[in-house]
Amino acid sequence: MKVPFFESKTYITSELDNYTEIFRDVMTGSNFIMGGKLTTFERNFANYCGVKNAFGVGNGLDALTLCLRAANIKAGDHVVVPGHTFVATALAVLQIGAVPVLVDVDEYFHLDPKHLEKLNDPKIKAIMPVHLYGMPADMKTINEIAAKKSWVVIEDNAQAQGAKFCGKITGALGDMAGISFYPTKNLGAFGDGGAVTTNSDVYADAISLLRNYGQREKYNHVAIGLNSRLDELQAAFLDYKLKSLNKWNSRRAEIAAFYSKELEGVGDLVLPKVRAESTHVYHLYVVRTAQRDLLAEFMKENGVHCLVHYPKAVHQHQATREKYILGSSLSESEAICRSVLSLPIYPEISLEQLQMVVEKMKLFFRKI
Ligand SMILES: *Cc1c(COP(=O)(O)O)cnc(C)c1O
Repeated sequence: MKVPFFESKTYITSELDNYTEIFRDVMTGSNFIMGGKLTTFERNFANYCGVKNAFGVGNGLDALTLCLRAANIKAGDHVVVPGHTFVATALAVLQIGAVPVLVDVDEYFHLDPKHLEKLNDPKIKAIMPVHLYGMPADMKTINEIAAKKSWVVIEDNAQAQGAKFCGKITGALGDMAGISFYPTKNLGAFGDGGAVTTNSDVYADAISLLRNYGQREKYNHVAIGLNSRLDELQAAFLDYKLKSLNKWNSRRAEIAAFYSKELEGVGDLVLPKVRAESTHVYHLYVVRTAQRDLLAEFMKENGVHCLVHYPKAVHQHQATREKYILGSSLSESEAICRSVLSLPIYPEISLEQLQMVVEKMKLFFRKI
């Protein structure tokens, strides 16, 4: 038996007839871009998140870039970004010529609000908290500080579709949110896809323009837009999958509870913690250990595929070198990159596979 890090074949095989039906429906229609399937999915996804507006776009990176542009962030402006995230959060800022102000993260792996009060840089126009690994960032504190400083709050909600904070779902916790439907995300397409959610009609109008060549009506271009639209086929697939998202998220939480129960007190492992008033949808189940590299190697040799999210902090990439400002020390972000390991977690993982993961983990710590 092997345990892959991610597996979708079991699910797709069991649903193949339904997906074939959806495929046939789109193929025999006349619209492949910006048709009825997209409109339906956007309405359902907006309702799911509890926001007024949702727009399907090309991918998560575009979603974040479009949010920044809708907020009128310009080249030379500064935007607060956590030092530990998937690099896309910072790339969106760099994409438009703005400068990421990197701030360290807390014990939950999220942007630590304690560094924000002292940021008195008038060039800062926005902040991008990331709901990393599937749990919402501390949006209450972040929103309070952002309101005082007049920063626009853009959630990076690529990893936490359906998670809640103080009763509200991610995507409805800031001014705008960028979402990814990359295939491995909790709600994943069969290809690239993304969305922007917002309660603001002003931002909504800007997003709808900018994702579609800057046009409200065909061939009348009022802004320098992108071509970044979620296609009909992916929208139809996602609309079908959205109905299962809560069930999948519950299953992920069950798997996480199993890991946390079995791995409590094993070696020097630090297990994921859940912040008060939050639900965690466990896009990833991430442990910390001083033995990370040895453990990852051991698990691999023993048939369990684990991954590191992420091996480098934002400022440690060649692409970002000298292109950021330090908003605080990034020592915690750096320490996290040396110590984190993500265990396999996906709704279809079997009990036998979970037991195998736990058994190998325990074996490793007994041996060293
Ligand atoms: C996946 C991801 C993105 C980017 O999404 P894509 O659809 O791959 O462009 C952005 N931010 C985070 C935190 C992500 O995990």
